Amino acid sequence: MRAALRRRLLLAARSDASAILADGVWSTRCLHCRSALQLREDGEALGALTLEHVVPRAWFGRNAARALTARVGDDPDDARNLALACARCNHGKGKGHDARGPGDARAREVVDMLLQTRLSRWRDPKATPGL
Ligand SMILES: [Zn+2]
Repeated sequence: MRAALRRRLLLAARSDASAILADGVWSTRCLHCRSALQLREDGEALGALTLEHVVPRAWFGRNAARALTARVGDDPDDARNLALACARCNHGKGKGHDARGPGDARAREVVDMLLQTRLSRWRDPKATPGL
């Protein structure tokens, strides 16, 4: 697995208040369906864990998404925009709001709700073990 992806997976875990590190493995829950997910301390995904960009990468730089992208510092790889999701939810998403784009009011509403969920689980990754 690529080093950049491992770093982002670990950043998502460390900044997720519901993620717990025990015996070298992070345990948390899918942003969408809350199914159990695990990530090794070295950033290797176990099982169906995937990295999710809460505000889709393609939305950055788009006027219609400005209010959403501003909340994550206008950086798709900002920790606030990274979440852990199961492969089923992450890949299913591509057929929904991602594909409709930020011009679609319902798509913006879905992303806004996901971002609220993500930020409600926020913790400072610098103050978290496993760094
Ligand atoms: Zn899921």
